[in-house]
Amino acid sequence: MAASRTGLTPHLRFRSKVLSRDRKAGITNCPECGTPLDYITTRLPNSAEPDHIIPITKGGTNDPANGRTICRRCNQSRGNRDKPRKRKTPPEVTASPIW
Ligand SMILES: [Zn+2]
Repeated sequence: MAASRTGLTPHLRFRSKVLSRDRKAGITNCPECGTPLDYITTRLPNSAEPDHIIPITKGGTNDPANGRTICRRCNQSRGNRDKPRKRKTPPEVTASPIW
């Protein structure tokens, strides 16, 4: 099997395919929160980011058909979803009497 190396990892290829496809398709707003997407600038809260519709961890693939474009903020909050905040309860302090 001849390996053709493009230098792109599957994830990077997924990213560019999903973003350019949705940009061409005229998707200008995040489908989750409706914020206007910024396709030009990265790392902004409203930067366009590719999202796996079915997460890789749940059997999804890096096929662009499994991708959609959402804003960075939604992308990050999705990643943190289903993790209830654990409140740390301090261990009970047994006061040792000082004589
Ligand atoms: Zn959003």
